[in-house]
Amino acid sequence: MNVCLISPRPNVKSEGSSSLFSNLGIGYIASLLSEDKHEVYLFDGNVHDLDKEEWMEFLTNSEYEVFGISVYEYNYFGAITILKQIKKYRSNSFVFFGGYYSTFNYSKILLELEMVDCCVLGEGELTCCELVDRLSTHSDWHNLKGIAYINEQGEVICTGSSSVIDHLDNIPFPTRVFHPRFLERISMISSRGCYEDCIICSVPYFRTNKHIRLRSPHNIIDELIYVKDKYSSITHIDFMDNNFLLAIPDKEEWIDVFIALLKKTEISIQFSVFARPVDVCFHKRKLQKLREVGLEMVFLECHSYSDRQLEFLCKNTTVEANNMAVTALEEYGIRYNIQLSLFEPTTFLDELVQQLISLNTIFLNSNLDEGQLPISFHKRVYPLSKSNFNDYYVKNNLSRHNYYKDTQMHSLEAILSDWQSLIGKIYRSTIKRRQFLLTDLNFVIDTCKRLPELNERGLINVHLNNWQQHILESCV
Ligand code: SF4
Repeated sequence: MNVCLISPRPNVKSEGSSSLFSNLGIGYIASLLSEDKHEVYLFDGNVHDLDKEEWMEFLTNSEYEVFGISVYEYNYFGAITILKQIKKYRSNSFVFFGGYYSTFNYSKILLELEMVDCCVLGEGELTCCELVDRLSTHSDWHNLKGIAYINEQGEVICTGSSSVIDHLDNIPFPTRVFHPRFLERISMISSRGCYEDCIICSVPYFRTNKHIRLRSPHNIIDELIYVKDKYSSITHIDFMDNNFLLAIPDKEEWIDVFIALLKKTEISIQFSVFARPVDVCFHKRKLQKLREVGLEMVFLECHSYSDRQLEFLCKNTTVEANNMAVTALEEYGIRYNIQLSLFEPTTFLDELVQQLISLNTIFLNSNLDEGQLPISFHKRVYPLSKSNFNDYYVKNNLSRHNYYKDTQMHSLEAILSDWQSLIGKIYRSTIKRRQFLLTDLNFVIDTCKRLPELNERGLINVHLNNWQQHILESCV
């Protein structure tokens, strides 16, 4: 069958919201479908930027019979736009939605969008292959495990969870599409699943259990050799696992084998990983060797510099662990980017100031990534579907205008939004990123400290203009 798998663009383009990597989820499905002799085209909105006219041309000139759309919170409206185009120009095609948003919101989607024939739930590889096989032989697909659809009576039917692939080495390497301006980096995964249960996250609920599955180091190195052979321009791999440095005993030996195999290939490659501070500490003794074989950057999931807030976020870590991880990465000369979730409903102003003062010291460290996001650019924590934070949000009747317990945080947020509009252009053009980061941090601290006075005396515009002048002088 001719199948088109689509990853729509994010709804809104904003700082850091768009990825230049192709979607690995549909990349894996594409490879499996191709193995089953289906013709698959991968359309990635991050790479192919089509307007409405171009979509019309693409669809009218194509012969796709099945369309699968990967849907997340961030691209839902983009998915709807594409769905309407598909049904307009290829009205007889079969369309299914998959991905996180579809898994957790299938009833809403099916009831709102009757053009969607079914939703594929959870990890979709096995279900998609079986679905397309059945469609190609005109067999009934309604009793397939792992889907939801609307029956003739208008009821939403969910057929339950499908099985997941236990042995990740058994699936073919994912199909990738490349952005023409971004030919040096690819994304990869070394594992699936996570053993934590952070309040803001829906990962633990997507995969039906917390069982962590690791690819073998051999399988990863084989993929690396394959991609280097096929695309010689690749110099960097971004491991997109939820947590590359898992703090489990199996992972210690895994890392040793990975290092040994990578050395043996003599391939020169750099790589970055996501890791929690406690896991960096757990594998501290391996950092030196990982660096020697190319570990270049760690996206460090610190989230907060307040133990109280870390507990609220169910991060199962501490400020002390954050500091120890940063010290270790500094010691071994590994770059790091600190991931933060500072703005959530229980954030209060005084505590925020204390955290920002701690960050002021860390932002001076030599191995901090130049791409570290300025504090004022951080967004409030969003209630992702199915996350425990979503339950908290609903239970406490939170909304856009009733989000923070400390109402001063709403005023601060409004000022930061104006500040961002004023300085966004400077940020995009400056090469003095570190200076910008520090000046912005000091702006936020100063604003927090002076907030009552600024609000009461209507001094906000003067304050913004003064700091804008300051940032222009120091960063341009
Ligand atoms: S935020 Fe990261 S560590 Fe926490 S549950 Fe999600 S994937 Fe796991």
